[in-house]
Amino acid sequence: MEEKLSFEYAPAPESRALVSIKPKYGHFIGGKFVAGSKHFPTINPATEEVLSQIARGGKSDVDAAVKAASKAYTTTWSKMSGKERGKYLFRIARIMQERSREFAVLETLDNGKPIRESRDVDVPLAAAHFFYHAGWADKLEYAGLGTTPKAHGVAGQIIPWNFPLLMLAWKVAPALAAGNTVVLKPAETTSLTALLFAEVCQQAELPAGVVNIVTGDGSTGALIVNHPGIDKIAFTGSTEVGKIIARAVAPTNKSVTLELGGKAANIIFEDAAIDESVEGIVNGIFFNQGHVCCAGSRLILQESIADEVLEKLKNRMAKIRVGDPMDKNTDLGAINSKEQLLKIRELTAVGDSEGAQRWSAPCDLPGKGFWFAPTIFTGVTQAHRIAREEIFGPVLSVLTFRTPQEAIDKANNTPFGLSAGIWSEKGSKVLWASQQLRAGVIWANTFNKFDPTSPFGGYKESGWGREGGRHGLSAYLKGVSHE
Ligand code: ADP
Repeated sequence: MEEKLSFEYAPAPESRALVSIKPKYGHFIGGKFVAGSKHFPTINPATEEVLSQIARGGKSDVDAAVKAASKAYTTTWSKMSGKERGKYLFRIARIMQERSREFAVLETLDNGKPIRESRDVDVPLAAAHFFYHAGWADKLEYAGLGTTPKAHGVAGQIIPWNFPLLMLAWKVAPALAAGNTVVLKPAETTSLTALLFAEVCQQAELPAGVVNIVTGDGSTGALIVNHPGIDKIAFTGSTEVGKIIARAVAPTNKSVTLELGGKAANIIFEDAAIDESVEGIVNGIFFNQGHVCCAGSRLILQESIADEVLEKLKNRMAKIRVGDPMDKNTDLGAINSKEQLLKIRELTAVGDSEGAQRWSAPCDLPGKGFWFAPTIFTGVTQAHRIAREEIFGPVLSVLTFRTPQEAIDKANNTPFGLSAGIWSEKGSKVLWASQQLRAGVIWANTFNKFDPTSPFGGYKESGWGREGGRHGLSAYLKGVSHE
């Protein structure tokens, strides 16, 4: 009888000793850490262990941060040459690289994402954003954005919890390169890497007040948005909060960019390379636990290959390693918070009750922490809520199509328009489809690829403006079109 070989993975945990987490943090204002008044716990979502106490910024903290940013803008940063500003950005980028393991461990502990992803994606890309924008700082006059591009002044920046350090880099690097100073608020569940970044600013001897970090929840965010001393708002988060912000800034002179939700179509045509497509589907929806605004959360599959793709997909999903995010072999980590887990459970229960068929990969979920097995729903129709609303978790809704036009119609039938994927061996079909799709970022025969040089942003309810590349830079300069 032939014996089946099976290879088990031994645990390969990353060392936690690389980081030292203080029991309590304040804010970073005017180049110094200052005490907060009220605090709330930040936990490791994989274990529910309390990691530290984070300050909830109030009016006086936001006032102090805006004042520091404004002073730094008028007295230092706006007077400095682009070449000098660029040196600081290069310095920050290099320190982030030097301290990359520390950042990766801290991100994984606070966010729940696998160490493999924080180490290989989040942190290197964050450093790359600083390197890229460092290069622009002394070349703004040659960026095709006007002959004398001017910064806005003080940028208020509010970021989400799914890529805490990376979203900080997307916001801070272009703002500083363009000559703005910033007041940034990380998300309430993931403040630790932003506070470590504050240390990097000190280490780089960035002039006091150029970067200010105020921690807190939505109420702190609202104080930043509504502060009269803020000249530009950059927000990444839910469409719901994006709409509140758009309303708040409408009667003001504040410039605004919004990077909001998505419900991306990942379209697989019958002539696609099947095995590669299956990898692309998995990467599209299970990367970062599906906590990705541009996740390929709607699989739009040509009917003729649907059975084959779904069988291969289930086999592949059964091999996804779910568990300890600090283990270097882990593919899928913890859901970032209990609230998010409840949202995922609620929407998937609606999927069941509306008649879609649920299949989850067999896996042992840890007893503590917040977990959700990789899941697909088949038999999904366009009317189902799981085809329309962002689940923001490791859950894929599968729809099928017969003709290319039907694929496009289904893909575009969404209030969002952030990203899309096309899988086909035919270049002409890829080009045709990409021209029909109403989405800001379109990947062909790949998914979830990011680069600081490439603009990122959405159509419709996915937001306003672009981040990254020359387009992203323009959002931090006065009087330049954002699109
Ligand atoms: P998610 O649903 O992904 O948590 P949110 O849009 O609620 O996204 O949060 C994204 C960021 O926006 C977080 O930093 C959060 O604290 C902040 N935020 C929430 N509500 C508001 C608000 N009304 N004004 C400004 N910022 C807010």
